[in-house]
Amino acid sequence: MTETLNSVNLAALFDEQLACWEQAGANYKALERVLVKDVNVDGFPFKVQFNPARITSSAAKVDAKSISERKCFLCKENRPAIQKGLDFINNSDSANPYTVLINPFPIFPRHLTIPLLAHTDQLISGRFDAMLNLAKVLEGYTLFYNGPKCGASAPDHFHFQAGNRGFLPIESELADISREDIFTSDKSRVSLVKSIFNGLITIESSCAVEANTLFEKIFATLEVKEGEREPMVNILCWCDSDVYTTLLYIREKHRPSHYFAEGDANILLSPASVDLGGVMITPLEKDFEKIDQNDIREILNEICISEPKSLAIVNKIKSIL
Ligand SMILES: [Zn+2]
Repeated sequence: MTETLNSVNLAALFDEQLACWEQAGANYKALERVLVKDVNVDGFPFKVQFNPARITSSAAKVDAKSISERKCFLCKENRPAIQKGLDFINNSDSANPYTVLINPFPIFPRHLTIPLLAHTDQLISGRFDAMLNLAKVLEGYTLFYNGPKCGASAPDHFHFQAGNRGFLPIESELADISREDIFTSDKSRVSLVKSIFNGLITIESSCAVEANTLFEKIFATLEVKEGEREPMVNILCWCDSDVYTTLLYIREKHRPSHYFAEGDANILLSPASVDLGGVMITPLEKDFEKIDQNDIREILNEICISEPKSLAIVNKIKSIL
């Protein structure tokens, strides 16, 4: 755990862990045979993945009582002894290193979990620059952040995740979806994506410092719901040819009504960054088989903010940038 993060060390870590760590090796092998179906929703090509190994995460109890009663699985002392990692130090906060770990319950063929070493709450403000810097170092990966009430199964231990690029449909679809520009400068462009994802804001910039400043300003304008400590969001971020692309999904709700419904209407799907990136994860086969475009549309309508709210946020952002 003393080696530093670079693509050679990361490839070696994958080889070593998949060979030596039986559970991780078996789950990555199972992923090769995982069932996937295509569902087009209003022109957006979703994939639905039937992934039984994700049940622990999708059904995770994240209320304060349940969290306080379990051992934190991201703390170093509670991790399996066989799990190894690579250090990443973010220059602006060098006292708080991150560890890049192989996620043993993968959705992506290459799936990483990146916790802070210290047990610290999942709150993104002040740490988004680390996401940008990780995106730069982790070439070929998309970083993602799930807010404490937006899919994180460890809301008490700050972490990012990452998966190999080219997996989430939104990465390639973004070029073809129409967008309304909110702000432009020499180096940056902020826009609202006009799609089934209401409240999706993109920040593209050739400068990490400017991208970070724009993010922090935008994030500070968003509503913090009663009882919460930050706005409800999911974030995707990648760096390609020195351009940083950030997708900020503003959420209305944690889990959709389908999650709590009884009988046939029940769908165990707890949406997070990957689902909003276009790959819906269903840990149960019954849900994988029945979920259709109407279910996905309903889920998105419930968990994303409304169109009027999204337009109000755009106006607010325009007034401060
Ligand atoms: Zn912890």
